Amino acid sequence: MTATTTTRDHALVTTLRTTVTGDVIDRADARYDEARQVWNGLIDRYPSVIARCTSRADVIAALAAAREYRPPVSIRGGGHQIAGSAVCDDGLVIDLSAMTDVTVDPDTRTARVGPGARWADVNTATQRHGLVVPGGEVSETGVAGLTLGGGMGVLQRAYGLSCDALRSIEIVTADGTVRTASRTEHPDLFWAARGGGRGLGVVTAFEFELHALGPQVAMAQVIYPYDEAASVLAAWRDLAPRMPETVSPEIALWSIPPDPAIPAEMHGVPMVMVAGLHAGPVDEGLEVLAPLTRLGTPMMDASAVVDYATSQTGPDPLFPAGARYFFKSHFLSEFDDDAVAAVLAAGDARPTPQSLVIVRTMGGAIGRVGPGESAFAHRGARFNVSIDAGWTDPAMDDAAIGWARGAWDSLTPFATGGVYVNFAGLDDDSDRRAVFGTHAARLDAIQRTYDPDGLLAGAAARH
Ligand SMILES: Cc1cc2nc3c(=O)[nH]c(=O)nc-3n(C[C@H](O)[C@H](O)[C@H](O)COP(=O)(O)OP(=O)(O)OC[C@H]3O[C@@H](n4cnc5c(N)ncnc54)[C@H](O)[C@@H]3O)c2cc1C
Repeated sequence: MTATTTTRDHALVTTLRTTVTGDVIDRADARYDEARQVWNGLIDRYPSVIARCTSRADVIAALAAAREYRPPVSIRGGGHQIAGSAVCDDGLVIDLSAMTDVTVDPDTRTARVGPGARWADVNTATQRHGLVVPGGEVSETGVAGLTLGGGMGVLQRAYGLSCDALRSIEIVTADGTVRTASRTEHPDLFWAARGGGRGLGVVTAFEFELHALGPQVAMAQVIYPYDEAASVLAAWRDLAPRMPETVSPEIALWSIPPDPAIPAEMHGVPMVMVAGLHAGPVDEGLEVLAPLTRLGTPMMDASAVVDYATSQTGPDPLFPAGARYFFKSHFLSEFDDDAVAAVLAAGDARPTPQSLVIVRTMGGAIGRVGPGESAFAHRGARFNVSIDAGWTDPAMDDAAIGWARGAWDSLTPFATGGVYVNFAGLDDDSDRRAVFGTHAARLDAIQRTYDPDGLLAGAAARH
C-alpha cells in the first residue's frame, strides 16, 4: 500500500460514510476480517473498504465515490465465485449481500430478486406458489453472479439457463444512471447481461419469469461403486442426451460424503453418483428417471419424491464455506470413448475425497435459444465437464490445483475450447475468447459504451 493509496482510501472511506446508508467497513473496523471473506477459503484479499449497500441509492452513492477516487472496484453478490472476484485488493467492494428481497407475483409469474439473494431465498418465495426459477444446484449460491454468467442447473434442459428466464434487469451503470434493460429497453445491455454480465454496471434487481413446478418433484440420486465407474460412465454417456428434456442428467466421480444419513463406514469411499430431477408431473417422475438407476449395481438408490426446495438445500453441506476450492471446466460437443477414459483418469487421480469430476448434460431448452441471442457462448455444447478440487489443508494447495489443471489439460483434446465463466478458479480461464467466443468483441463494445472510462474494468476482467 503506497502513501497515495492511503490518502485516497481515507478520502474514499470518509465520502462513503457520508453518502452510503449501509455499513462502510474499512481496515480499522472490527468486522473487516469477516467482511472480506468469501465462500472460497483460498481467497485472501485485503480491500481498502467494503460498502454494504442496502438500496439502489446506496449503489449510486458507491459508484459516485468510485468515480471520484478511482479505486479498483469489485462487486459482491452472494460471494461464491470460485476465483473470489467479489473482493479486490486495495479497492472498493460494492457489497450487495444485504439486498436479499424477493417478491413474487403469481398472476404474472414474475419474481423480482435483489442482487444479494441466494437461491434459497428465491426457492422459498417462489415455491409457496408452486413456481420456480431455473437456478443452480446449491441453494447457498448467489443469484447475481450465477445468472450474469449464464446459470446451469438441474432444470436447464427443461427451462433453459437462469439467464434465459430473465425478463429484465435494473442496473446502475458506471455514470450512476439507473436503467432497465429488457428485450425492448437497452436490448444491447440485456443481451450482454445474459452470460456476459460482469462489468456492465451494478445490477440492483433481477426480474425472472417463473415456471410451474413443485413443491414436490421426483428426483433420482443413485450411488454406484467406483469399481463400476468405467461401465456406468459409458452407459450414462449413451443414455443422458436421449432422456426426455424434462431431465438434465449428471454424473459425478466423487467420494461418499460424511452425511449422517449414510452409514459411517461408507464415508469417504469413492463412488459414482448419478442424479437427475424430473421437471414434470410427480406421478410419472420416478418412472421417467428409472433408467438412471439401471446403469450398474447401485450401492444406494435414494431416488424419491421430495420437495424441490429440499432438493436444493441438500447439497449445501457438501460445499462448506471457508474450505479451499479450485474449479475448471470444459464444454464438449462429443463425448467419445477416449473422452470417457480421460474423465475416468481424472476421477482416479482426485487428490481429496471432497474433489470431484462432474459431467452435466446440456441441450434441450439451452440450445433452443439462438447462438446470437445472448452473450452466453456455449449453446451448442452437449455436455459440460467441471473439475472441482476441494480441500482444507493449505499444504495441499499445489497438489489440488495441479490436479485440476492437469485433468483439464488432459480433456482439452475433446473439448470445444470454451470455458464457463462461473466455474473459473483463480485467474485461469480469463481468456475472453474462450469464455465468450465470437461474442467477445460485441461484449467489449457494449462495456465501452456504458463504462467508457473503465471504472468497472476490473470487475469485468476478474472472474
Ligand atoms: C458451491 C457452489 C455451487 C455452484 N453451483 C453452480 C451451478 O449449479 N450452476 C452454475 O451455473 N454455477 C454454479 N456455481 C458457480 C456460480 O455460478 C458462481 O460462483 C457465481 O459467481 C456465484 O454468484 P455470486 O453472486 O454468489 O458470486 P459473487 O462472487 O458475489 O460474484 C461473482 C461476480 O459476478 C459479478 N456480480 C455479482 N453480483 C453482481 C451485480 N449485482 N451486478 C453486477 N455484477 C455482479 C461480479 O463481477 C462478481 O465478481 C457454483 C458455485 C459454488 C461455490
